[in-house]
Amino acid sequence: MGNITIHRAVDTGLRRGGASFSGGALVCECTTNPVKVRVNSDIAHNHACGCTKCWKPDGATFSVVAVAPTESVEIRKNGQKLAVVDPSALIQRHACKRCGVHMYGPVERDHPFKGLAFLHPERFEEDGWAPPGFAAFVSSIIESGFDPSNMDAIRARLKEVGLEPFDCLSPSLMDYIATWTAKKNGVLT
Ligand SMILES: [Zn+2]
Ligand SMILES: [Zn+2]
Repeated sequence: MGNITIHRAVDTGLRRGGASFSGGALVCECTTNPVKVRVNSDIAHNHACGCTKCWKPDGATFSVVAVAPTESVEIRKNGQKLAVVDPSALIQRHACKRCGVHMYGPVERDHPFKGLAFLHPERFEEDGWAPPGFAAFVSSIIESGFDPSNMDAIRARLKEVGLEPFDCLSPSLMDYIATWTAKKNGVLT
């Protein structure tokens, strides 16, 4: 299974995060005038994602994506290069118009993730962030053209590197979303 690639942050073995990552600077791939976004907090829920919407670096089958409080995110440099990929989407992914890297994606709608911004920690200039903890939307990689007959191999590889594969989000996040919905609808108090 050596030819199965997940993502470069995963394929060479997960790095352990430092105990006290407190944020850093995300930078896009442009060699001149890169966009810089400052994140003034730790990240949470870092995971590999197989959906078709998250930004992936060249050659990756999965994205690596996490969240931070939107209020801790600030654009520092070349923000004029940013544009929202899909204004109708729940996650307002702000991408560099030049290189295509998604720099941050806040959730502003009434939703359990409201107040959080999705980001790609591999774009941090600093090391020490927590590695991905699970793999989400694994079956969705087929929608990007992945050979369905290799799904057993990719799930086995994910487990081998310590990323439990799920076809939606992890059970704890799915429970969190369902609890929020039940409370909103008055089914739970
Ligand atoms: Zn760029
Ligand atoms: Zn995704």
